[in-house]
Amino acid sequence: MARYTGPLCRLCRREGEKLFLKGIRCNTEKCGVERRKYAPGQHGQNRGKLSDYGIQLREKQKVRRIYGIMERQFRGYFEEAATTRGITGEVLLQLLERRLDNVVYRMGFAANRRQARQLVRHNHFLVNGRRVNIPSFLLRAGDVVEVVEASRENPIIADNLAVAEHRGAPGWIEFDAKGLKGKFVRIPTREEIQLPVQEQLIVELYSK
Ligand code: SF4
Repeated sequence: MARYTGPLCRLCRREGEKLFLKGIRCNTEKCGVERRKYAPGQHGQNRGKLSDYGIQLREKQKVRRIYGIMERQFRGYFEEAATTRGITGEVLLQLLERRLDNVVYRMGFAANRRQARQLVRHNHFLVNGRRVNIPSFLLRAGDVVEVVEASRENPIIADNLAVAEHRGAPGWIEFDAKGLKGKFVRIPTREEIQLPVQEQLIVELYSK
């Protein structure tokens, strides 16, 4: 599956807000949005007022960028959400939160979702005792994610866990730091997915 490999700060600057795509750097004055508070590119400083369509488009791009997903796959998530019982925008975010790379990030094994994706790809995790290296793998309530035996001393994972200790795991995850594993207890509610996005705008965009 294709993925974006360009500069991350550029994505935040395009959306005009911090998307926290990097990790520790995002909370320092080195953050790209802090340093240059305008959109990237030649006309970045002269952008006019957005149309309704533009506002909806930006919201969709923002969510796509937060989770690191390309347009086609994102559309697929939307279509699945639209045919699932519940509020479409909320179900869409819940689907994204169930991705293995996201849960690895939420558990603190990775500094950001991009790194989580790479760690998953490189076979560092088991799901319910089986090796899974598909970042888009969707977890179900009760699934257990753990670091494989051979990666228990991995310095990247250890460093990330030390930093993540301060932010703690979200309420829908039971994390066992000593065992290097966590349980995806349940699908999070919209309130628990603390993202500053208006998912209704994405629904409106795709429903045109
Ligand atoms: Fe975004 Fe983090 Fe770069 Fe700041 S440092 S612009 S939050 S990716």
